[in-house]
Amino acid sequence: MLGWVKRFAGISALLMLFGVAESAARAQSVEKTLSNSAPAIGINTDRLSNKDLRRWNAIKQIVFAEDAEGEPLHPTLRDLWKRLERSGHVIYIEMRGGGRAVSNIAGGFYIERFDPEGVNHAAIIRLYPDTIDRAYIGPNARRHEGFIAFQGLGREERYAEVLGHEMAHAVHILSDLTRARMVEEVIQQTNELFLSYGKQNGYANIEPEMRRRLDQRDAFLKELEEPAEAAEALVWRELASGRQAKNRNRSREAFAGRW
Ligand SMILES: [Zn+2]
Repeated sequence: MLGWVKRFAGISALLMLFGVAESAARAQSVEKTLSNSAPAIGINTDRLSNKDLRRWNAIKQIVFAEDAEGEPLHPTLRDLWKRLERSGHVIYIEMRGGGRAVSNIAGGFYIERFDPEGVNHAAIIRLYPDTIDRAYIGPNARRHEGFIAFQGLGREERYAEVLGHEMAHAVHILSDLTRARMVEEVIQQTNELFLSYGKQNGYANIEPEMRRRLDQRDAFLKELEEPAEAAEALVWRELASGRQAKNRNRSREAFAGRW
């Protein structure tokens, strides 16, 4: 149950070790309550508090923002969103505070219930707004794609950038049954194994078989980052240029007003 494909703020090193036990326990109890009702489908905000729902609605407005001609300002975000809505899977949105631990995690994607038929997986996209608010923005945050994460964006636009990254993971993973199974087996089961392995043997001397699994997991995690990073770069560009367009309109209006 443990282990997320995670997106860190500031740095692009993405080889996390394991997730938080609490999330697995919580996921199980949610699964139980849902098991007798019809499967939920699409992007699902049932798990958000009222405060987080307000934040979420601000993000959603960004996803669906249009220019004066009615064209989407952020087509990549909108496209990813629509693909998830149509996917047949349920993607729960969760938001978490930074908590006590100093964390660098901005967002995560996780398969909560793997459907062997590939028809109705349950997955989680989790955003960490506090971490995103605190994220370092500067030359050292430059990504492979050449953009600097969050640069020039407002608070909710940064959340939308991370959402874009996680939605790209969701589309890429959930749309391919083999890949989804690999996420479940190569990442999530390995993390679970590693956690219980560590409890029994400690983490000092890792046996070759465990080492092999971890290496395989890390290589796969790295592979999964590529399409998500590429999508995030596009999302960032669209957010940044949408902002410029808005500013242009605003200064035009101000200019017109003065005359
Ligand atoms: Zn990622």
